[in-house]
Amino acid sequence: MLTGGCFCGRIRYEAAGTPFHETNCHCSICRRTTGAPFVTWFSVPRSQFRFVCGEPTRFKSTAKGTRGFCPQCGTQLSFEHDDFASEIDITTCSLDDPGALPPKDHTRTSSKLNWVQLADRLPEYQESRQEESLYPVSGGTDGP
Ligand SMILES: [Zn+2]
Ligand SMILES: [Zn+2]
Repeated sequence: MLTGGCFCGRIRYEAAGTPFHETNCHCSICRRTTGAPFVTWFSVPRSQFRFVCGEPTRFKSTAKGTRGFCPQCGTQLSFEHDDFASEIDITTCSLDDPGALPPKDHTRTSSKLNWVQLADRLPEYQESRQEESLYPVSGGTDGP
């Protein structure tokens, strides 16, 4: 069971099942909505995920993308995409133990800041992972 929540503790969540798509997302929307140079995410089946305390405030970051954050402390917690309603993305660093779920690649590096120098030898994808159509290259730039 994965557990986590926002900085202030108002919102808590838990997720069962096996996480997937652990990634560092370099897209400009992740950057601008957090104020960080990139954001690390993982995905779980939505059926296995629940907020156990509080509810995030949600906003549309693109036509099909919805992000959730704590209205009190501002921690970004979730990303949901209309085309992939069976899954939810969660910010890795809102986990109680983010060290236990390291990213496996970098995505959307076409938007990466020039002063971010990657040296971890993880795969880098200009947009989404080549072998998947999770976030189609032609479908906009929102999404971890
Ligand atoms: Zn909070
Ligand atoms: Zn992103």
